Amino acid sequence: MIARKRTRPVQVGGVEIGGDAPITVQSMTKTHTTDVKATVEQIKELEDLGCEIIRVAVPTREAARCLGEIKRQIKIPLVADIHFSSQMALEAIRQGVDKIRINPGNMKDKAKVEEVVRAAKNKGIPIRIGVNSGSIRAQGEERRPMAELMVSAILKYCEHFESLGFRDIVLSLKASDVTTTMEAYRAVAKECNYPLHLGVTAAGLAASSIIKSAIGIGGLLAEGIGDTLRVSITGNPTEEVKAGKQILEALGLKETNGWELVSCPTCGRCEIDLMKIVEEVKDRLPPEKKGLQIAIMGCAVNGPGEAQESDIGIAGGKGFGLLFKRGQRVRKIPESEMVTQLLKEIYEMTDKRQP
Ligand code: SF4
Repeated sequence: MIARKRTRPVQVGGVEIGGDAPITVQSMTKTHTTDVKATVEQIKELEDLGCEIIRVAVPTREAARCLGEIKRQIKIPLVADIHFSSQMALEAIRQGVDKIRINPGNMKDKAKVEEVVRAAKNKGIPIRIGVNSGSIRAQGEERRPMAELMVSAILKYCEHFESLGFRDIVLSLKASDVTTTMEAYRAVAKECNYPLHLGVTAAGLAASSIIKSAIGIGGLLAEGIGDTLRVSITGNPTEEVKAGKQILEALGLKETNGWELVSCPTCGRCEIDLMKIVEEVKDRLPPEKKGLQIAIMGCAVNGPGEAQESDIGIAGGKGFGLLFKRGQRVRKIPESEMVTQLLKEIYEMTDKRQP
């Protein structure tokens, strides 16, 4: 059981970040925000997959003016991602977004930042202060370690916001390398209790990003740090949501509503066509999911143990498998019937009629 660091709760539309709230999965659209139809379609697809908060880029005033219409058409809270321009931030707030994300470091004029903070305060919406390693580098700060620079920059912004009586703050300190990201989040978690939005930035294509994020985001979550997350992937944002949910599920921080398939990698001891069996079972599982753990294991080395610990499982032998159900050995099944018999038992356990 992971003991989470308690942070100050912040309300983003109908979703709470921090405090006792469950850790939420976020994503960001990859459409042009001015293309309202495409943006809404993408958000709806992400909503269906379990995305809980969505962020859109606001690179122009025109994009900012589209936010109200986008918000009206979606169910989850809408976050406006704004750089450089306080005017776009003010327009986003007027349009009714649920949170804005800014990096005060790239809004040169302090008075303009204050105008944005006051507008957010009047509207009762939070601000995520997002500092990225790239933005620190762009400011030419190279003398101290990057994580240290990121933390000292973000704490200065927090102090500035607090001096204006504003505390509805979420923080993010993303770097493109995992260790810097982890160091920065660990350090800031020691210094303040603002909720933390976790992410490894510019993490690359899905294969690379999922590994970096599982280590970086997952590692921090395992230490009790983090309140919301986004897996950044160069690719379809649906992958971001799936990966984010999987990280939480793997740590037991989110109840899985899918099937948890436990299957071994196979080796020279395996005497059944395990890969084919796993693929066939996976493709024919009941669509309405129940969160059961199903083990399909290759041999007697780890097979009976895993099968016994799962809700249902098979431990392979030489051309046969032993079926276990709720910890009890049930019967021996020939390899040719493993898929059908296992599926029959699973459908019975879920009260579903097998097609
Ligand atoms: S369970 Fe058996 S077949 Fe599977 S990887 Fe382990 S030793 Fe190999």
